[in-house]
Formats: sequence, structure tokens, C-alpha cells
Amino acid sequence: MNVLLKNSRLVMTQGLINGEWVDADQKATLVVDNPATGEELVRVADMGAAETRRAITAAHDAFPGWSATSANQRSLILETWYDLIIKHQDELAMILTAEQGKPLAEAKGEIVYGAAYIKWFAEEAKRVYGDVIPAAQAGRRNIVIKQPIGVVAAITPWNFPSAMLARKIAPALAAGCTIVCKPAAETPLSALALGLLAEQAGVPAGVINMVVGSDAPAIGNELTGSKWVRKLTFTGSTPVGKLLMKQCADTVKRTSMELGGNAPIIIFDDADLDQAINGALISKFRNSGQTCICSNRLLVQSGIYDRFIERLSEAVGEFRLGNGQDATTTHGPLITDKAALGVDEKVQDAVAQGARIVTGGAPSDQGSRFYQPTILADATPDMRVFREEIFGPVAPIFKFETDAEAIELANSTEYGLAAYLFTQNLSRIWKVSEAIDFGMVGVNETAISSEAIPFGGVKESGQGREGSKYGLDDYLETKLICLGGL
Ligand code: ADP
Repeated sequence: MNVLLKNSRLVMTQGLINGEWVDADQKATLVVDNPATGEELVRVADMGAAETRRAITAAHDAFPGWSATSANQRSLILETWYDLIIKHQDELAMILTAEQGKPLAEAKGEIVYGAAYIKWFAEEAKRVYGDVIPAAQAGRRNIVIKQPIGVVAAITPWNFPSAMLARKIAPALAAGCTIVCKPAAETPLSALALGLLAEQAGVPAGVINMVVGSDAPAIGNELTGSKWVRKLTFTGSTPVGKLLMKQCADTVKRTSMELGGNAPIIIFDDADLDQAINGALISKFRNSGQTCICSNRLLVQSGIYDRFIERLSEAVGEFRLGNGQDATTTHGPLITDKAALGVDEKVQDAVAQGARIVTGGAPSDQGSRFYQPTILADATPDMRVFREEIFGPVAPIFKFETDAEAIELANSTEYGLAAYLFTQNLSRIWKVSEAIDFGMVGVNETAISSEAIPFGGVKESGQGREGSKYGLDDYLETKLICLGGL
């Protein structure tokens, strides 16, 4: 095992089923590596369909007990879990950086951000209200209660291996659901560490189960095919999300889908340039461009176009690529060689179609998973960088003239997760915010996410909302109790 991880008591290498840490059935293991160096960090249990079935059974068996606990009791356990995560945030961040690659400061930010959902839903657990509805007929009373939906399955990606899971487990447990989690095989350690701390916080056996495995379709088939699993919550790519929705149709499961994005960031001539540069830097290059709300298309009005590019390229020149464990690193590697190659293909496609490289434009000499922060001017909608999620540190810049043109360009995508605009004109803020088809709009701000807001997309970016007062609804059923003969 890697030396850094060796001293951590939060590094778990087995799955969690019914409160037991267990190996895969045939003792199969998979390798977790450090994307910055390619070094093997550790091997973890490589589980499949049979282990997933057992995890579902455990969650099913634990459901009656957990759903019958009082909201206050669930809230207290979640609060304790939150406290433990905060107490261990440095160690959790170290594990996250080792397996995922992002700089330590960003990793710590993710741990605290994910934990905030646990605290939030610990509080919301106590506020699951019903209704009394006036009856249409005399002698009746209509009462509406909210009940936990049942066993939940959660499938999560590698880009936020801690937070994406925390923000699914927290509302599920708060509502009274039990859960089977399948973290991404690239980054299982952050998930397993959360499972361990949950156990220490007093989450009973079977309430949270973790199945780690490289055969995602086998695990996914079990989760989606099971009659006991009543809901699937997924964060990942749009093609996999669509597939899982189809698989869930047979048992008419509820689904929440946080899928791909193709966020526009619209910089109008009247933008505060400092604000716009800062916003673009954060939203484009955080996690080296590997977030679903990263701005993908920079739409810049003609009057500010040249100045914006000049300032952005100056700022990007300050980036320090490297191993996330080094304090001087501002930007880490991409998750795999394949990811880095995919980014380069999109850049080369843009260049072949006339994009101008302002800076970067090639793999970095730091290693096969590193890509130079890149700015492409004169990008056009025919290019792959316009249509596809780049998921890398590449900023393609598109020029526009009018508001109508900006709105049309922004909406010319099947995705609809996040969008950003920078302008000082109040009327424009309202008109453009209302005219663009996205679940979240950041105005003069790109760091929009927190536990207090409804995170989610429209169109092929998904359905359902995570966080906020709306977030619990995804884990609750609405039941009518009609009292008659009164
Ligand atoms: P990404 O491009 O971010 O890896 P994916 O959608 O491929 O996005 O992966 C997100 C999560 O979905 C991961 O946990 C991955 O293992 C899982 N996954 C991928 N394919 C399937 C599938 N066919 N069934 C179930 N889960 C899947």
C-alpha cells in the first residue's frame, strides 16, 4: 500500500454489506491508482452481481427498523456523522487527492461541501410535513403524509467521489430510506471512508451498504432489476443515465438523474471584466475542467472579446500543473490516459476547423494524464467543443453580437444543467436568465453550488434536485389517507 495511505485508519479495502466489511466473493480485487503518478495506491474488493444482491437484501431488511426511527434520532446520527467528517477532513482530503488527483485545497473543499449536505439534511429530517386537504364530500377528511420511498440505489462518478455520494446518502437517510451505493471504481476510497465514519456515527447495520466493483453493468443490472430497490439516484454521463432509466422502467422505479452538462458562460460587453475573468477561471478550470457544471462554451460579445481573451490567457499563465499533493499545485491531472486523449482529440478537431490556439493546445510534459490549460479563440458551433462536454482544461471562445444570438447559442444543446452570465444590466439579467433552458443560472457568479440550493438540470441533463428544501422530495412518497363515514 502507498505510504501516505498506510497510516490512515480511514482507508478501507473491502465492501460494506449489512454492517460487515467483506471481500469480494472470489477474493477478486481491483487496483486504485494515483492519477498524478500512475502508482498503485491500494487494491480493493472487486464485487459483482452476487454481492450486490446481498447488499440489496441487507438494505431491504434494515428498512423497517430505520424508517420507524424518529426524525430526531435520524437527525442526531446524521449530525454525528457530519462532526466526524469535519474532524477527519484533512485525512479524507488526502485520500481524495491520492485517488482522484485534485489539489489538496480543492479536495478539502469537496469534503466540507459534501459534509454540509449531511448537516443540512440532518436539519431537514425534522421538517417532513404532511397536509390536511378539505374534502370534496361531506363526512370525509383527507390527510396527506410523506413516507420514505424504500431502498435506494446510488451510483456515483469519480469527479467528486465524496460529495456526490454524501449528497445522496444524506437525504435518503434523513427521509428514512436505506441505501446501496456503488461508487466509481476509479475512486472507491473516499466512499468507503464515508461508510466507515457513518458506522462510527451510529448508522445501523444494513442502512448504508457499499458495493465496489469494476463490472459496473453487472452491479447496475442488479440494482435496477431489483423489485426491492424503489429508487435509483445517479450522477454520471448522459448515455449511462439514459440506459439506467430504461432499465428502471421495468419496475417503474423513481429516478433522479444528474447527467452531463454543456454550460455556456455568456460575457456581455457591459460585464465587470474582473468579475468575469474570475468567474470564468473558477468555472472552467476547477478540478481541471472535470465537473458537470464547468463552463464548456465561453460566449463573449464582440466589444469585450479581445480584452477578455488577453486577460484570461494572462491568468491561465499563472497555473501550476502537478501532483495535487504538492502545495504549489493549482491544477492536477485528468482522471485517466483515455480522458486526456479525448480532450486532445476535441482540441485537434477545433484547430482543424479554424480555431486559434491562444495558449496550450497539447498534452503536458508532466505525464500522460496531464493536459495543458488551453484557450481556443475563434471557436464555432460546428466544432466538437461546442456540442460535447469537454471535461478538461480547455476554454473555447465563441464571439457573438446580439442578446438574441447569445440566447440562441446558449440553448443550442441537448443539455441544460448550469449556465452563467456576466452583465451589469438588470433588464438583461432577467430577460436572459428566463430565456435560457438550464436548471441553474449564475449571474455574475459561477460558484453557485451549496447545500442550500436546488442542484439539477433540465432537458438531457437530468431530472430531480439535490440539496435545498426540495431535495428531500426525491426520497419521499406522498400518501393519501381518506377518512370516511365521519
Ligand atoms: P464518467 O464518464 O463520469 O465515468 P459514467 O456515466 O461512465 O461517467 O460513470 C458514472 C458512474 O456510473 C460510475 O460509477 C460508473 O461505474 C457507473 N456506470 C457506468 N456504466 C454503467 C452501467 N452500464 N450500469 C451501471 N453503472 C454504470
